Amino acid sequence: MDRPAYSWPMGKRSALCFSVDVDAEAPWLWQNRAGLPPTLGQLEQRRFGPREGLWRILDMLDRVGIKGSFYVPSVVAELHPDILPALVGRGHEVGLHGHLHELVGDCPQDMFEAALERSLDVFRAQVGLRPVGFRSPAWEMTAGMLAALKARGIGYDSSLMGWDHPYDIDGLTEIPVQWQIDDAIFFKFFGGGADKWPPAQAAQVGQGWLEEFEAGRAFGQLFMVTVHPWISGRAQRLAMLERLLSHIVAQSDVWAATAAEIADWHRTTHAGRFVAHSALDDLAQHLPKGVAR
Ligand SMILES: [Zn+2]
Repeated sequence: MDRPAYSWPMGKRSALCFSVDVDAEAPWLWQNRAGLPPTLGQLEQRRFGPREGLWRILDMLDRVGIKGSFYVPSVVAELHPDILPALVGRGHEVGLHGHLHELVGDCPQDMFEAALERSLDVFRAQVGLRPVGFRSPAWEMTAGMLAALKARGIGYDSSLMGWDHPYDIDGLTEIPVQWQIDDAIFFKFFGGGADKWPPAQAAQVGQGWLEEFEAGRAFGQLFMVTVHPWISGRAQRLAMLERLLSHIVAQSDVWAATAAEIADWHRTTHAGRFVAHSALDDLAQHLPKGVAR
């Protein structure tokens, strides 16, 4: 069976998107929304992002010469009102990432929609624009969330991984992510006996990411790296990222683009192809009779 690789602009073989989830204090606030603990350890670790990590990443991207897609919970924008203007001013894409980094399992539809509206208000007030993209905290989605984004004219979601190149799900463009090239699963470490293993060495992770990039080229893969400033703004990890990105952008057959640019490319070039449906109702037909979902 003929399965041609996904096609990219100008005959490029694959694409690079560097995405940054600017979480900072937001997940800690969500986790402790019933009342803040007195402990400062995790909070200060997260505050390294807006204080140092984000700015180091921006300078690194300038040196490499690419633009990133930055997903900012609106509470982070409220706590650090310099972030969104700086990102927009330096030519990067800014996208939605909840208000308090609401985790889907604990966030009913009405709360999700309220957070979405609040985020849109904050972005409008701070930088006078309406983001075209959404990324779900912890990369979980529901059909209701996809529908809510579509109803508000949000152009794409970037939280799922049903293909390794752009596709459509329930009528919304999906710019897929991949756990294998996310920094948090390798480096997040909170101490206090809570962690299962020590943080990985950046050079080792970078070698694995390079292999993923090289192997994915034959398939026309979107190489969607995801990092967090409080995690990857640290010296060793930042140096690894600069080496990796510099290597990738030096390849003449790779298109480096923001997720918004990739979504535009997909809509204008691949309309009607790579179409998926969440289809839970159809799947439920296959359950034994009498089983509720
Ligand atoms: Zn996040």
